[in-house]
Amino acid sequence: MKETFLGVDVSSSTYEQLNKQIFDDIRQNRQSMIVAINPEKILKAQDDPDLMELLNKADYQIPDGVGVLFASRLNKGGIQNRITGIDMFLTLCEQAALYGKSVFLYGAKPGVAEQAKERLLERYPNLKVAGVLDGYIKDEAYIKQTINEANPDILFVALGSPAQEYWMIDNMKDLNVNIFQGVGGSFDVISG
Ligand code: UDP
Repeated sequence: MKETFLGVDVSSSTYEQLNKQIFDDIRQNRQSMIVAINPEKILKAQDDPDLMELLNKADYQIPDGVGVLFASRLNKGGIQNRITGIDMFLTLCEQAALYGKSVFLYGAKPGVAEQAKERLLERYPNLKVAGVLDGYIKDEAYIKQTINEANPDILFVALGSPAQEYWMIDNMKDLNVNIFQGVGGSFDVISG
């Protein structure tokens, strides 16, 4: 279920519903994209129709930011809880470890994704991290080849917004990955 704020869709599903849908996508070999929506992105999208279209094309727009929650309440909508990008990222890692699914970390400065991987493995020792790549490599063919060779179920993309959203939509079709999530500065946060 979705609600719309100034033209931008936001999911009103709970964490449990989202997790179930996302892991169903993996089991059924579907591709889907998760983006985090906050008031800043909604405002950016007002002046950028391509960004608005792209955000609405995503399969799951999670309500990151209390502003979205307040707007839903004012509209008598049904969004109950904030779901931050980083919480979704950590929950997906936890669930991936539980179900034996693999993840790939792409983005942030050299060394950061590697450190984020170490922190994730401390939390979720069974997590399969298929690979990591920093976000400053310019060779797109190399990036796609590396991800495809690692063959992850879930790809987390930390290039900042909206670069990561554009990157995901442009490259999804070339990658044999099921789930794509744009995670902004999350690798920096968990690696520190
Ligand atoms: N980044 C990157 N490649 C770039 C530009 C940025 O990997 O060419 C990374 C940067 O190192 C940081 C993240 O993208 O880890 C952006 O974090 P920020 O907190 O700015 O994300 P946002 O606020 O856009 O969600």
